[in-house]
Amino acid sequence: MSVIVLVEHTDGIIKKKSFEAVQYASGIAKKAGTTVTAVVLGTVADNEMESLGQYGAQKVLHVADARLDELHARAYTSALFAAAQKENSKIIIALHDINGRAVAPRLAVKLNAGLVAGALSYPDTDKGFVIKKAVFSGKAFAYLNITSDVKVITLMPNTFPLNKVDGKASIEKLDMSFVDKDFGIKVKEVNKITGEIPLGDAQLVVSGGRGMKGPENWGLIEDLAKELGAATACSRPVADAHWRPHHEHVGQTGGTVRPNLYIAVGISGAIQHLAGVNGSKTIVVINKDPEAPFFKAANYGVVGDALEVLPKLKEAVKKFRQNHK
Ligand SMILES: Cc1cc2nc3c(=O)[nH]c(=O)nc-3n(C[C@H](O)[C@H](O)[C@H](O)COP(=O)(O)OP(=O)(O)OC[C@H]3O[C@@H](n4cnc5c(N)ncnc54)[C@H](O)[C@@H]3O)c2cc1C
Repeated sequence: MSVIVLVEHTDGIIKKKSFEAVQYASGIAKKAGTTVTAVVLGTVADNEMESLGQYGAQKVLHVADARLDELHARAYTSALFAAAQKENSKIIIALHDINGRAVAPRLAVKLNAGLVAGALSYPDTDKGFVIKKAVFSGKAFAYLNITSDVKVITLMPNTFPLNKVDGKASIEKLDMSFVDKDFGIKVKEVNKITGEIPLGDAQLVVSGGRGMKGPENWGLIEDLAKELGAATACSRPVADAHWRPHHEHVGQTGGTVRPNLYIAVGISGAIQHLAGVNGSKTIVVINKDPEAPFFKAANYGVVGDALEVLPKLKEAVKKFRQNHK
């Protein structure tokens, strides 16, 4: 009756957010007096899979089919369904990201399960199985009780800090016979995002808006991001104007980030932008208008011209890092 968790990897390297999902599954399993079985799909080395034990997985079920190196939602669903049946699992966890959002609803239908998408808390089992999630573009929280026998949860990345423990997961092969329609979508080309730090996994983000005036000033954003080891992001009008690529646009119609630090430079703070960033742990706003709405959502604010503040901030970070080596 173990808790099942879907693990993601890039070129065989398990993603940090999947360790978070395994740790989350482990917390739920401990409370339920059971164990965690991680499901790994595609080509991953044994030692990499064993490391899932450091985050609470006792066992890995490995479907070693190279076609699963890329997301195929139907095939992933079939594999998770088979794993859930094999383990007689009542609780299945995935991440609230592109993969999890494609797979979890399909799996919930197949298992006749209730689903909470975007969990921000462990289930409160005192009065059922109640999980907190954000609603109305992060303006409010809902507390949802899953009453079905089988439960599917997608966890928001970067919700809980990781705590490594000693442990090594055992590995078991799961032989699957897929049908053609499991691979009904043909991936013709994969264009990998070229940024040094993928935005979705970033702990620190420096983001620019229309207040940056034009793409010629983006070097200032990139310089600060490089000094901090941060990813870069932008508001939607910036991507629409082709100042920055669309995969950097965050908000209601773009990506969602939940970094430890989000620095918003020359961004007004419209509700549609906040929807993608208001899960950030600390928000710093740099804006020349003291009335900019973003200041209401900020932990720290600098009222000033971005073109003057950014070089000074970069130098300050550089000096700080030199003094704290
Ligand atoms: C259906 C819908 C969906 C949308 N989805 C998204 C979304 O996903 N993401 C998103 O970002 N937007 C989205 N928008 C657009 C959103 O409503 C805002 O228009 C947009 O976020 C504004 O971008 P901005 O803050 O960069 O630009 P502006 O609103 O033009 O703000 C620029 C800011 O820069 C400041 N500024 C100007 N010069 C300087 C300077 N020299 N130094 C410092 N500060 C300066 C200004 O004071 C101002 O606050 C959506 C809108 C709709 C209707």
